[in-house]
Amino acid sequence: MTTTLIAPREVAPVQAAPVQAAPVQADTGSRPPPPAGAITSVPLLDLRAQYQTLRDEILPVIAEVCEQQHFILGPQVRQFEHEIADYSASAHGIGVSSGTDALLLALMALGVGPGDAVITTPYSFFATAGTVARLGARPLFCDIDPLTYNLCADGLRTLLAQSCDRVGDALIDRRSGARIRAVMPVHLYGQCADLPALAGIAAEYGLPMIEDAAQAIGAESPGGIRAGSVGTVGCFSFFPSKNLGAFGDAGLCTTQDPVLAERMRVLRVHGGQPKYHHAVIGANLRLDELQAAVLRVKLRHLDAWTLARQRNAALYRERFAALGLGAELGLPLALPGGRHIYNQFVIRSPRRDALRAFLTARGVGTEIYYPVPLHLQPCFASLGHVRGDCPQAEAAALQTLAIPVYPELTGEQIEYVVRAVADFHA
Ligand SMILES: *Cc1c(COP(=O)(O)O)cnc(C)c1O
Repeated sequence: MTTTLIAPREVAPVQAAPVQAAPVQADTGSRPPPPAGAITSVPLLDLRAQYQTLRDEILPVIAEVCEQQHFILGPQVRQFEHEIADYSASAHGIGVSSGTDALLLALMALGVGPGDAVITTPYSFFATAGTVARLGARPLFCDIDPLTYNLCADGLRTLLAQSCDRVGDALIDRRSGARIRAVMPVHLYGQCADLPALAGIAAEYGLPMIEDAAQAIGAESPGGIRAGSVGTVGCFSFFPSKNLGAFGDAGLCTTQDPVLAERMRVLRVHGGQPKYHHAVIGANLRLDELQAAVLRVKLRHLDAWTLARQRNAALYRERFAALGLGAELGLPLALPGGRHIYNQFVIRSPRRDALRAFLTARGVGTEIYYPVPLHLQPCFASLGHVRGDCPQAEAAALQTLAIPVYPELTGEQIEYVVRAVADFHA
């Protein structure tokens, strides 16, 4: 690893142990019923809680779009594109129909197709590799860093140095014969992959870099480097469960390159330029005007929500440390000096499945991101991977568990989750 990592749980002062619960009851089924009004469950995410605080701002902008009847690529989309480009320290923003389509558009704009390969992580949402395969290209998996779960820069360097050959100006994957066309790191759970290192390696090999920043809007690498600002293209998702979530599907591409931005704008409308004249084959990949209007309202709250997520993460660290569970739980590492936006707060346990079942029984929402690493997905069987090819991703898939960290969580709800986790370990 090229970056020194610290466990931020150290920042929290260890508190006095909380009042010991009266004689520990072995049988959880015999607990007395909770007092009226007490918390009995905590969901993984509560979008209704957020909507309650936004209704008065959002309904008027929806009404305004209805009045205008300008539903496709109107002023809301244009302004949203500027706002996200600014927010992500990028020169251009191209609104698209989903995070998946953002990845697809980036790959299309870079000309990725049959015979090509794109280096990416095996530990991500399916779309990361699915879009590569969808274009007839080959995802080339490079294992993750076991502490951040992100594509490992040293691993990338090794893969490029040892498994690839330079043939003319092409870079060829020796095993498959495919031409490597791009590197695609993912900023998993809301923390940037090692952007300076990865960008340096990509540049050294003359490869474009696509940042899958679907989970990482506003995240920063140490040094204040924003997600989506360094790669040739940055790809964002506004799926409802992302930190900035639409009322449906939505996404966006960022870039500093005006030529690439224009190419993406054209490909987004079937490649028609001018309209009905097609020098290239694109697709319908447009961002919806109604979604842009909703997202513009929500963007005004994003930094406050990020702070709340960070506060919740700090509270978990403090409470788990106070209960002596810090080490056992494999709390997420946050890179010092970076901005982790906690799309997910992911703990790690060798008894993950039992812990999850216990939390489910207590009404605590959890999820496994992701139970099957991409190189072992049945649809990629033709790539010829076997268990053991990406050991860090495989181990993570068996042990990680996301617990609730959404901004509207109350201190009592966090305490409920902490208690449930502590009771499991008691
Ligand atoms: C959500 C997500 C996507 C896809 O975004 P959609 O908007 O759901 O299409 C791609 N990559 C990662 C890492 C994601 O988390």
